[in-house]
Amino acid sequence: MQQTNLISKNMMEDLVDDRLEELMRFSGVCCCERCRADVRTLSLNTLPAKYVMSTSGDVYVRFQSLEPQMQADIVTAIMNAIEVVRANPRHDKYFCY
Ligand SMILES: [Zn+2]
Repeated sequence: MQQTNLISKNMMEDLVDDRLEELMRFSGVCCCERCRADVRTLSLNTLPAKYVMSTSGDVYVRFQSLEPQMQADIVTAIMNAIEVVRANPRHDKYFCY
């Protein structure tokens, strides 16, 4: 009997990861691991979760294949999160570059 390993996964996580680095660099905000994790968490908290079934845990949904409105929502959520982290970095502002 074949083993299936079906799990549900929030594809929003992959979609945010897809844009996160680029938008943070574009904004000139601190890109350290800590700030990146903060921006990622804040963005995901404001976006609706979108669960999909997966057999491996890896569902790579292409950002470009999304509806334009959804792309805009994701970018807006990340940009808002970047502004929150920029205003309140969780570390001394000279800690990283
Ligand atoms: Zn930082």
